[in-house]
Amino acid sequence: MYDVIVIGGGPAGSVISYILANKGFNVLLLEKYGRNRYKPCAGGVSTVSMTTLEKLKLRIPEEVIEAEIYYARIIHKTKELTLTTGKLGGYCVYRSKFDQWLRDSAESAGVEVKHECPAYEVKIHKDCVEVKHRGGMSEGKILVGAFGALGILQFYKQLGIKEKPKFSLAVQREFILPDEDMETIADTLELYFGSDITTKGYFWIFPKTKSNGASVGLIEDIPEPRMTERLDKIISKHPVASKRLVRAKPISISGVHLSGQIVACSPINKPYGDRFILIGEAAGLVEGFAWEGMSTAIRSAVIGAEVLTKALEKDKFDEMTLKEYYDKLKKELINHDLIYQNKLGQVLYSCSPKEFDTIINGLIKLLQIDKEVGLKFAEVLGRLVTGEEIIKLLLSKKLAAIKAFGLIQAIKLFFKFRKII
Ligand SMILES: Cc1cc2nc3c(=O)[nH]c(=O)nc-3n(C[C@H](O)[C@H](O)[C@H](O)COP(=O)(O)OP(=O)(O)OC[C@H]3O[C@@H](n4cnc5c(N)ncnc54)[C@H](O)[C@@H]3O)c2cc1C
Repeated sequence: MYDVIVIGGGPAGSVISYILANKGFNVLLLEKYGRNRYKPCAGGVSTVSMTTLEKLKLRIPEEVIEAEIYYARIIHKTKELTLTTGKLGGYCVYRSKFDQWLRDSAESAGVEVKHECPAYEVKIHKDCVEVKHRGGMSEGKILVGAFGALGILQFYKQLGIKEKPKFSLAVQREFILPDEDMETIADTLELYFGSDITTKGYFWIFPKTKSNGASVGLIEDIPEPRMTERLDKIISKHPVASKRLVRAKPISISGVHLSGQIVACSPINKPYGDRFILIGEAAGLVEGFAWEGMSTAIRSAVIGAEVLTKALEKDKFDEMTLKEYYDKLKKELINHDLIYQNKLGQVLYSCSPKEFDTIINGLIKLLQIDKEVGLKFAEVLGRLVTGEEIIKLLLSKKLAAIKAFGLIQAIKLFFKFRKII
């Protein structure tokens, strides 16, 4: 009988396993795929992801870091604006290596890690949880669902969860670039907005500088058809992106060049029950504005570990005891941050093409006019500023907003944002 069985060896599952094993608990971590498996992801490790890991004494090794990030560039048609906080704004990594390092760290802490071991079925009994997986069956006192977006359809029904998070969709290609083309993007996250790309999300180029690589992708709030076709059109035709990628050659990372994946981006209302909790994307904990999901995965793992430690010490695993996990999640992650980021996404990604371009154009002007907004916006991408803080700040900048957006658009936006608060 394990103390804890964790399904999913992404950042959420590996981090909770690592913490609980360090506290002396007996943990089994099941990962569906093999060592160094590819995970579709731009690999942006935000400042908050980085600092949360460091607090756990998990310092990302040099060989895992592909790029150090100091700038974020917002691009709209041919306009470019580079933002900086003047500090290290996080890293870029390939998830194949990053996640393997986290699983290996969990193993070194005493976790039994099983690769190529998909979980097939979970059953919650009165006195234990039972997980059927490749090669057999295991029993534990508590189950942690850290199976990401892909496990949701499989396990929610088995756990009796009726709601579903909202799903967005992303596609990505991996490239290698010559040295001279890496210079512009080496320490910068590039985010491209505009109705010529999509009004439902954005396109990105994220550097993997040490490998001369770039992860290039498109994400949309509501999945629209032919995303890969549209991604390729941006790569070859966008006035700025096509120049960046003119000599880019396709490469495969852990056997994958092109990938696509759904993103679960609205927190569900009951990510717990008798003898189980859900963490990370399995609970819909990705913000719906820039779709950063690693920091919330890691932070939910920290909160989950705190609550499970108490539950294991008291030998109490009922729904009422585990509700504390959700209460803390709401207080620390959802109520002041995720909910607001999601609403920001809803406002922006439901605009008409004309309105979308006006807003992005105005936003770039606003970020240039008002240095405080520029700084905070760069920090939003590092997840250092909450969704609530940025919306309140935008609402307080009435004069700058009128200059940037024009009076009528500024009033329209003011009322849209007022509704959110
Ligand atoms: C294209 C794309 C780009 C993104 N870019 C970024 C970015 O730059 N920065 C960022 O912070 N976030 C990004 N995200 C979001 C981020 O990747 C996720 O939110 C994050 O990985 C969630 O972590 P997790 O541990 O909860 O889940 P995951 O990382 O999805 O891990 C879940 C794990 O569970 C395993 N699993 C699933 N089912 C089973 C099963 N039945 N048995 C055993 N194991 C199972 C999977 O193999 C996987 O390893 C991006 C997402 C996409 C799709």
